[in-house]
Amino acid sequence: MNVKISKNAGFCFGVKRAMKMAWNELENSEESIYALGPLIHNKQAVEKYEEKGLKTVDEVESVPESKNMIIRSHGVSESVYKSASDKNINIIDTTCPFVKKIHNIVNTYHNEGYQIIVIGDMNHPEVIGINGWCDNSAIIIKTPQQMDSIELDKSKKYCVVSQTTMNLDLHKQITDKLSKDLDTVVFNNTICSATKERQEAAKDLSREVDCMIVIGGKHSSNTQKLVNICKEIVPTFAIETKEELDGEELNKYKTIGVTAGASTPDWIIDDVIDFIDSI
Ligand code: SF4
Repeated sequence: MNVKISKNAGFCFGVKRAMKMAWNELENSEESIYALGPLIHNKQAVEKYEEKGLKTVDEVESVPESKNMIIRSHGVSESVYKSASDKNINIIDTTCPFVKKIHNIVNTYHNEGYQIIVIGDMNHPEVIGINGWCDNSAIIIKTPQQMDSIELDKSKKYCVVSQTTMNLDLHKQITDKLSKDLDTVVFNNTICSATKERQEAAKDLSREVDCMIVIGGKHSSNTQKLVNICKEIVPTFAIETKEELDGEELNKYKTIGVTAGASTPDWIIDDVIDFIDSI
C-alpha cells in the first residue's frame, strides 16, 4: 500500500505561523495566555493548547490588566489595540502578514479621504477587523446582487479590497460592476491563493490514487469542499482523526491519497499516515 500526501494539505502559511507563535509563547510563559476568539476551529488542537494554559475570551474586557493576549491570524480592528494598550495588556500579534497588508491599505486610503469598499462577508472576523481600520465606515459587498441596493456616490473616490478567502468568480463580477459604475476607484486584489492551491492539489492527487482520505472538522466548510472535490473523482473518506479509519476497508486500495482542511494540524495528519503505514 502506497500513501501519497497532497501538497498544501492542512494549515496555510498564516495559520501555521500563528499556531507556532502561540505555542512558543505558551511554552515560555508561567501563566495563562488569553486568546481573543478561538485560535482555530479544530477541537483537538484547541484542547492541546488549553492544556498548555490557553484561555479563550470574546473581548478585551475579559482579559485581566497587564496579562498576555494573542491576536489570531484573522486580525482585529485598530480599536482592539487601543483597548489592550489602555489595560497595559501585552499583545502577541499573530495576524497573518497578508491580512496586515489589507489593514495598512485600508488605513492609508481612508486617511486620504477615500471611501473603502470591502468585498467579503460582513460577519466574518477578518472583515470586521478590516473595517476597524477605517473607523467602521466601509461599504461591505458580498454578492453582485447586493449591489442593486447600494447607492454609490460617483463624485467620491473609492478604494476596494477583498476578504482573503473571497471566491474569485464573485470577486470578478463585483469589481467589473464597480469599474463600470465608478469614476475614481483603486482596486486591490487581496485574495490569498492558499485555499485555491489546496483544492487544486487535492484534485490532482485524486486522479493519481485509488481512494482519498480528507482530514478535517465535520463542520469546516473548506474541508467539506475538499471532500466534494475528491469524491467526484475517487472513493473518499472524510475523517477528523485516525480513530474513524477502518483498516480492513483501506486494505482494498493500493494507493491512498491524503489531504487535510485548513484547520488540521500536522500532528493529526501524521497520526493518520502512521495508522495507514501500520495496516
Ligand atoms: S491570508 Fe492566506 S495565508 Fe494568511 S491566514 Fe488567510 S488563508 Fe492563510
